[in-house]
Amino acid sequence: MLRVGLADATQILKLTDEAVVDNLRVRYEADEIHTFVGSMLLILNPYRLLPIYDSLEKYRDVRLARAQPHVFAMAEEAYLCLRRDGVSQSLVISGESGAGKTESTKLLVRYVAFRARAAAGAPASALSESLVRSNPSLEAFGNASTTRNANSSRFAKFTRLHVGADGGLQRAVVVTYLLERSRVTLHAHGERNFHIFYLLLHAAAQPGSPWPAALELPAAAAPADFFYLRPAPLAGAGSGRSPPPPAVGAAGRSADAGPTDLATTLAVLHAAGVSAADASAVIAVVAAILHLGQAAFAPAAGGSDGAALCGGGATVDAARKLLGLADLRPLLLERRLSVPGADELVIQLTPQQCAGARDALSRALYELCFAFLVRAINRGLGGLVDDAPFIGLLDVFGFENFGTNSFEQLCINYANERLQQLLVERLFKAELKLYTVEGVPVPGGAAAASFADNLGCVEMFSASPSGIFRLLDSQCISPQATDAKFICSVNMTHSTSPFLRPPGARGVASSDTFIVKHYAGEVTYSGAGFVLKNADSLDSHCALALGNSSVPFVKALIEFGQQLAAGAAKAGKHGARRAGGLGLSGGSASASSLGRRFIGELDTLVKALSAGGCHFVRCVAPSGSGGIAGAALRSFDAGAVARQLRADGTFDAVRMLKHGYPVRVPFAQLHARFLPLLASASPQVEQLEPSQFGELLAAVVGVKPADCALGSTRIFLRGAAAIAFDELRAKDT
Ligand code: ADP
Ligand code: MG
Repeated sequence: MLRVGLADATQILKLTDEAVVDNLRVRYEADEIHTFVGSMLLILNPYRLLPIYDSLEKYRDVRLARAQPHVFAMAEEAYLCLRRDGVSQSLVISGESGAGKTESTKLLVRYVAFRARAAAGAPASALSESLVRSNPSLEAFGNASTTRNANSSRFAKFTRLHVGADGGLQRAVVVTYLLERSRVTLHAHGERNFHIFYLLLHAAAQPGSPWPAALELPAAAAPADFFYLRPAPLAGAGSGRSPPPPAVGAAGRSADAGPTDLATTLAVLHAAGVSAADASAVIAVVAAILHLGQAAFAPAAGGSDGAALCGGGATVDAARKLLGLADLRPLLLERRLSVPGADELVIQLTPQQCAGARDALSRALYELCFAFLVRAINRGLGGLVDDAPFIGLLDVFGFENFGTNSFEQLCINYANERLQQLLVERLFKAELKLYTVEGVPVPGGAAAASFADNLGCVEMFSASPSGIFRLLDSQCISPQATDAKFICSVNMTHSTSPFLRPPGARGVASSDTFIVKHYAGEVTYSGAGFVLKNADSLDSHCALALGNSSVPFVKALIEFGQQLAAGAAKAGKHGARRAGGLGLSGGSASASSLGRRFIGELDTLVKALSAGGCHFVRCVAPSGSGGIAGAALRSFDAGAVARQLRADGTFDAVRMLKHGYPVRVPFAQLHARFLPLLASASPQVEQLEPSQFGELLAAVVGVKPADCALGSTRIFLRGAAAIAFDELRAKDT
């Protein structure tokens, strides 16, 4: 047993951070990738298919306290809690990019589908089939190869599996967040754009393919022929890493570099109820984006204002046809401003502004296609949600810290702060509060009770009116908005915050960078584009033109986007002006800012998570997230693992949970359940208060005093007694 280390890190006798890491190493070397930290599960990415996912049956009806650590055991616990309490249960899966979140999520879906089937006695349902099948198409549009993961999800995903009264799956809903829209028009060296572009070109290059003619693609086109599929120029020598080698996913597919062909993607769309015509239309929009990316601009001839298309604009014409527009040029070359009571003002854009308009159009179109796809998938999964409890699976992008960190990292890291706060609340604050309320001394004393609270950091981002996102919004609506002014305002406003690094030599008014002390480490935010990215929305005249497209799908796409925007505005509690949805507003920048929309979406998500039970799964990249070569060798880098565990609060959690009481049972519940049994042996117990009864019961069953504490309304237990009590209680319901 010891050879493979301890299955629960809280059982380590001489607890140090090193001991926790060493235990993981011993286990990893024995292919034991799962380890509990109390009720939390750590998973080390094995980077190869292990024979540990075949027997689902053996996890059935096993409570977590008795289970061997395994991703299926977590799913079972969530399922049992849902059935017992009738309350939604969510599994929050976190970790750095490449740590294994998405693969774990797929395994969790597979288990819940199995479990629900077993409970309801139904054969494999069409629903669980569609769930599994929806992955490839979602990944085709939402995943890309990055330096850390050949099939990296570039969006966050919350999958809700609704469980009916019979325990079977009723329907499922996928909600996606924060698609990395900037990747459509720019990606880093050593990375790629979204898979779908390459799938399309691959399909188009096959002999006899109908795509080249239909989409006006050049014969034998290669990715390198397209501007959007070439990486950004190298910023400095040596900063490019080579793409990661293909690996094997837990789902058992080889070369997990994402979906392998366009036909599969289209088949899934069909299965989800998307007509063949609509599916082709999505692909046509994808092709239109590739064509748009080819448009280049030069100063207009003859010294006049504005810009002109370089090289005759054949590609723009291809995009125009595919988008069903009478004329695309004005949308790229001019900006129209409506002036109340006067003629429309037409402004000629500079070549650089034209490129900006081109890219904004491409990003908006792509994001709409993605949202359309998600809706189609959801229709196939059973439609709207009602109040039936669900098992929620949250696969969220991990914390990011790159050489240059801009708006995208700001949003992603803020999301991680929110989720960390959820964990802090659930694991630490709620614990301490309960002990206080119950009058039980905090087990383990002050050392165990110390934890890093990041609430202040969350507030620094989202507080009104001075949170970082608000500061960015106010910058965006000012006529002379610049990134420097925004950065400067962050440094000034939050100069005394413990979560912002004091500017020191840079001075409070530094306008180059601001440095946030995230729970996972310090991140320096700089780089241009905060203002532009936050206000990135489809120009209202573009939306109008596309809304009149002769291609029914494009018309419908814009209408759909407007519905989303209207829905977001209605749902938004940040004022009715918030137009939200997919940068399709045309209103003022702040009314529809991406940052504000994202905060709103996160609020909704965290509310859904907070309303029910939460179970935490933490994925760890054993060789560190940058170590692609290490991944190939499956090496265990103790330093990298320690960094990840420290960053996400796992070390704190081990300390607190080691001393804690994992099981607590209300006296009233014990009283009701066991009084009849004990009273038949000695009638005088009927006189006891529930709390006295609980104490007596603990003594009768032989619970060691060190393993229990008596609160004012409940008994706290750990060790063998805890398991026994918990099971008695579970059977009771
Ligand atoms: P993340 O979503 O955290 O960025 P992924 O889930 O995409 O990471 O995992 C990255 C790669 O690691 C996968 O493509 C797969 O090759 C490998 N991997 C992750 N989890 C497992 C697992 N449980 N078994 C086998 N391989 C895995
Ligand atoms: Mg992922």
